[in-house]
Amino acid sequence: MSATGGPQVAHLRKIAIVGFGKIARDQHVAAIADNPDFQLEAIVSSSATHEDVPVFRTIEAALASGLALDAIALCTPPQVRRDACELATANGLAVLLEKPPAATVEEARALAAMGESRGTTVFAGWHSRFAPFVADARAWCESHDVFHGQITWHEDPAKWHPGQQWLWQSGGLGVFDPGINALSILTAIRPGTWQLAGATIEQPENAETPSAAHFRLGRNEDEIDVSFRFSVGGTETWSIRLLAENGDSLLLLDGGGVLSLNGGPAVRRPNAEYAGIYQRFAELMAARQIEVDVTPLDLVEEALRTADITPVGPVTI
Ligand code: NAP
Repeated sequence: MSATGGPQVAHLRKIAIVGFGKIARDQHVAAIADNPDFQLEAIVSSSATHEDVPVFRTIEAALASGLALDAIALCTPPQVRRDACELATANGLAVLLEKPPAATVEEARALAAMGESRGTTVFAGWHSRFAPFVADARAWCESHDVFHGQITWHEDPAKWHPGQQWLWQSGGLGVFDPGINALSILTAIRPGTWQLAGATIEQPENAETPSAAHFRLGRNEDEIDVSFRFSVGGTETWSIRLLAENGDSLLLLDGGGVLSLNGGPAVRRPNAEYAGIYQRFAELMAARQIEVDVTPLDLVEEALRTADITPVGPVTI
């Protein structure tokens, strides 16, 4: 989608991070510091402190402070993005949305529409699409016919989501929060309409979102078997394995950071996912464009809507 409006003159973009939790601290601060197009100007947080930039408790306070902000990076949980996006776009600020862009497809579209109507960028940043071997995998898919494959996305929630109540509340997506990264890669390397079938989920008794999911995806004659699982202390795997009709194979490991072709050596490249996100955000801001692809979230909604549910014991949150 493209917003209306004339070309925007490139300049240093003053950005505020909104929601100073794990991903903001782990990735956004460094990615902004490393990108010459952006300058971290403020943090909006209910509780954080910071030595180098002012911290505001609300976006309203940041806007009222007189700082000439150009953009915000919305790093809050997906359930609480609407008001922040509304306020930012109404004040002419561009918005970078962490993945998933919102708790539902409908809301993600509404956030995109806010940018459309106000002529300011809204970007749904699917970070896994910027993993080092995604472009190679897409080229491989373009040169191969029908394939079968498996997606295995198993991780330890205690390591990646410590104390995150929102993950287990409606709209937090549970195991689909990491799993949607795999879907963002698949739908980028093999674009088109994927049909979902045979979904089953495991539903902890003390949560509103699932701890495991299994389903099949089909696109023309392609067939992919998908397994998402949270397992405390278990082996972690973020892999996509594809076998083409002619016998060639592709294995993406570590969420796209490692590639092996035809059973050959696994090659690793350095991770620069958030560098890629901010580079793309700068491009979109310069062109006043909107980029909100809801395809991965659409598949998650379909899985949740159609799944057979198996109740399981409580999770530790
Ligand atoms: P988190 O550690 O829980 O941080 C989220 C922050 O949002 C909180 O620290 C809080 O910041 C703010 N917030 C505002 N309203 C909130 C509410 N109702 N409940 C909880 N926090 C609220 O979560 P995160 O891991 O950074 O994830 C945030 C987003 O990034 C999610 O969409 C997630 O999918 C995505 N993401 C996470 C990871 C990861 O490894 N964890 C990786 C990639 C993407 P203040 O206290 O500063 O207000």
